[in-house]
Amino acid sequence: TEGLGTRDPDIAAATRMELTRQRSEIELIASENIVSAAVMEAQGGVMTNKYAEGYPGRRYYGGCQYVDIAENLAIERAKELFGCDFANVQPNSGSQANQGVFTALLQPGDTILGMSLDAGGHLTHGAKPNQSGKWFNAVQYGVRQQDNLIDYDQMAELAAEHKPKMIIAGGSAIPRHIDFARIREIADSVDAIVLADVAHFAGLIAAGVYPSPFPHAHVVTTTTHKTLRGPRGGMILTNDKANAKKVNSAIFPGIQGGPLMHVIAAKAVAFKEALEPGFKLYQEQVIRNAQALADELMKGGLDIVTGGTDCHVMLVDLRPKSVKGNATEESLGRAHITCNKNGIPFDSEKPMVTSGIRLGSPAGTTRGFAEEEFRQIARWIVEVVDGLAAHGADGNAEVEEKVKSEVEALCAKFPIYPNL
Ligand code: PLP
Repeated sequence: TEGLGTRDPDIAAATRMELTRQRSEIELIASENIVSAAVMEAQGGVMTNKYAEGYPGRRYYGGCQYVDIAENLAIERAKELFGCDFANVQPNSGSQANQGVFTALLQPGDTILGMSLDAGGHLTHGAKPNQSGKWFNAVQYGVRQQDNLIDYDQMAELAAEHKPKMIIAGGSAIPRHIDFARIREIADSVDAIVLADVAHFAGLIAAGVYPSPFPHAHVVTTTTHKTLRGPRGGMILTNDKANAKKVNSAIFPGIQGGPLMHVIAAKAVAFKEALEPGFKLYQEQVIRNAQALADELMKGGLDIVTGGTDCHVMLVDLRPKSVKGNATEESLGRAHITCNKNGIPFDSEKPMVTSGIRLGSPAGTTRGFAEEEFRQIARWIVEVVDGLAAHGADGNAEVEEKVKSEVEALCAKFPIYPNL
């Protein structure tokens, strides 16, 4: 009967402060979003108590009849959203979804070809410090020096040379459409499996505003919490029955134990929301907002890697203003604009410094911001960056303070979680 406030005032206070932070800051981290109250309610429910090793109808525990309803709904809705025949909704995260696919379809020591972290790939695509880079012979493709677009010719050359068993498409800082058909062609030429990790684009793909990896990819992984606007988690999709069977055994008992049934219930709710007509409108607005943000930043004298974006994310090249990614992230943070420092392709700065920041529109769009607000946000970013350029790495406290109060006024006009 005791609530959180009484039972654990420290955690209650931290949660309260986090809510205040989310309410009063502009969230531009491209991999974040703001879930609905319904998604949170499902995730905060009693399904957290339940052990359900196995899959619906074939569990190793009794009492699974109601969690089975949740998992079956999540699976059916996921299949409908992405137009595919099979979905495993149990991966606890995007990383574990990828690990599950590797466990299902590869052996340690196999060669994989993925996008390098520096160019916009993800750690799990073969980066050295990640298990994928330690347990596999990881070869990495990148982007072209002249335009920072994915270098498909390099991918084809590396594939011919190294004969990878798997080619991984996707990444965490790719602002343009991925040519999944081209990647499949390259893979077919060396008999490789195509894994498309669409973690960043999943919501856009579900809404039909970004190219689908199907039918080109053999297997697709995603997170559920970025553009898809669900709870934190992962998912694996495929049309191939044999791959599906291997993926199921790889997730359980291969790498996971009891699935997080409360999270799976919340995934089902998010997928239901994504099937509603409003979701397509939302995703269209996400893209328009990102493009407005990029356009206004360029007007303010910043460079955008590849000159713009086709989706929700962009990389801002700060070099025209001679400021660094880490100092910019901190200065914007003091002005209540949240983002992350990010290396730009061929960056000469260290990963903890960087010459860029990564920005995205999903969370702000959920809040209700449209192009007008995103153009204003861009002008604030330019103000802060100019302050930083003029006043050194500690920024310009006066500009930061002024922008912060304007940001808070905007946030107050677009409230989130009014009932919390
Ligand atoms: N794959 C891609 C392309 C990602 O961007 C991310 C997250 O940033 C992941 C996988 C990993 O997801 P998680 O953080 O849930 O493990």
